Amino acid sequence: NIAKLETAVPIIEQLNAHGHSAYIVGGAVRNYLLDIPINDVDITTSATPDEIEAVFERTVPVGKEHGTIMVLDTGEPFEVTTYRIDGTYEDFRRPDEVIFVTELKDDLLRRDFTINAMALDSALHVVDYADGQHDLNHRLIRAVGNPYDRFHEDALRMIRACRFQSTLDFRLEDETARAMKTHAQLISHVAIERIIVEFRKLLQGLNPEAALMTVEAAGIHAAIPVLQQLEPLMKPRHAVTLEAYFGYCLYKGQFVERGLAQLKLSNQEKKAIKASCEIYRELDAGAAMLLVYKYGAALVINCLDMRAALGIPAVLTAAAVRQLHSALPIEDRSEMAVDGHLLMTHLGRKGGSWLKGLLGRVEEHIVLGRLPNNKEAILKWVDDNV
Ligand code: ATP
Ligand code: MG
Repeated sequence: NIAKLETAVPIIEQLNAHGHSAYIVGGAVRNYLLDIPINDVDITTSATPDEIEAVFERTVPVGKEHGTIMVLDTGEPFEVTTYRIDGTYEDFRRPDEVIFVTELKDDLLRRDFTINAMALDSALHVVDYADGQHDLNHRLIRAVGNPYDRFHEDALRMIRACRFQSTLDFRLEDETARAMKTHAQLISHVAIERIIVEFRKLLQGLNPEAALMTVEAAGIHAAIPVLQQLEPLMKPRHAVTLEAYFGYCLYKGQFVERGLAQLKLSNQEKKAIKASCEIYRELDAGAAMLLVYKYGAALVINCLDMRAALGIPAVLTAAAVRQLHSALPIEDRSEMAVDGHLLMTHLGRKGGSWLKGLLGRVEEHIVLGRLPNNKEAILKWVDDNV
């Protein structure tokens, strides 16, 4: 961790050398103090975006209008952002504009939770205006300032509070929890894409169960149009993937495909959710070998994890799934010893829906080990069975 933070120190020193103050902020500070892995190291500075660009050789203006310049001088990318406060909030969402300021303190105090509102200088000394260290020691998520105001400004912060409850396995401070109950409805104004980012992290955290109990108790998911259909809200007891989670909801009939579309996920994510739904169905039916062949070991294992997290007795272990996968006679249709052409010539028939059906049956027999994957054996089976 220290090594990771120290890679940011030359950037801070270079800003300092040009007369600008600069600090490491946000999640990196929090995780450093907790001694848990750091994701990315963000830097905040008194320098304006133009000044940041003037100090460094290699920069990319990734979010210049809200103050963020990516600096590549040391080889790895760092986001350097000008001290800022948020402009007026419209509609309980992100502000339409940001205002650059000169004091670190103002930048820290506009942040969401006390544990996220600390900074480190180039000597890795902590700057803490919101008693973040106290809350870190007491494992508390507490809004900076008045929680009612903070959730009213940006309703996403409520789901972020739950996300940190899960990822850190912390508790919500009482007033912060009360404010969440008061303002839960406001989450309906937040774009689903922003919610999903936090929801995914919540599911992958240490304690999704506790966080989802908070979500439910506060009435947050009931206020999110796409998620209100999740009744009862599944509460996995340990980390699961978003795809395995929503696949389970789909399997349980909480979602229909149209609901899935409203989550605005990528095609790949939607595909994995639908595949997961099939996996739950077929796990009940029992043909594990075919499942592993069709969907791959990773998705099947994620679904088994989800079931385990809901307390459903295991039908298969992850080790068994990997074993099944390595025992597959073929991994893909392209490895079959016959193809459509060969079958058409052999049978002297033109292509059609029969061919697809026949290929599917042959494929299944090969995967299940009922038929060896060689041409003569397959053609003999075809002669006997068509
Ligand atoms: P992670 O390690 O999971 O990335 P993080 O704390 O870095 O956690 P980010 O979402 O990357 O979380 O946000 C970076 C920092 O920006 C936060 O630590 C917090 O200080 C601030 N922040 C992010 N979103 C908000 C928000 N909606 N309102 C106020 N401050 C926010
Ligand atoms: Mg981060």
